Amino acid sequence: MPTDCIFCKIIAKEIPSDVVYADEYVTAFRDIQPAAPTHILIVPNKHIASINDLTEADAHLLGKMNFAAKQIAKAEGVDESGYRLIINTGADAGQIVFHIHMHLLAGKKLGRLG
Ligand code: AMP
Repeated sequence: MPTDCIFCKIIAKEIPSDVVYADEYVTAFRDIQPAAPTHILIVPNKHIASINDLTEADAHLLGKMNFAAKQIAKAEGVDESGYRLIINTGADAGQIVFHIHMHLLAGKKLGRLG
């Protein structure tokens, strides 16, 4: 684990966060600067910097993240009203934290993409 990765530190419980889900493969916690009433980050427990760094051997982790998102959406009560899942990759997408993370946004009309 890179010593400077904030999400690795959250996964390792070295810094506090509002964790809403955790299993062998993924951890999910509330975004510290929410962009919607429900804003949760779902991350693989394994450090992978971005989708550009994903290997075929680790591709199943994206499935685990999506399945966690489904369960979290239900637990948060937004599965029926709807939610958006976003993975930012690289500068033009605005990726700030280089540990793959899926944003789960919900709780309001989210508007168009882009
Ligand atoms: P991105 O722009 O896709 O890299 O998104 C990174 C997200 O991480 C932003 O929405 C930040 O608000 C969020 N974030 C950064 N540090 C923390 C933290 N310590 N706990 C929770 N969310 C964080």
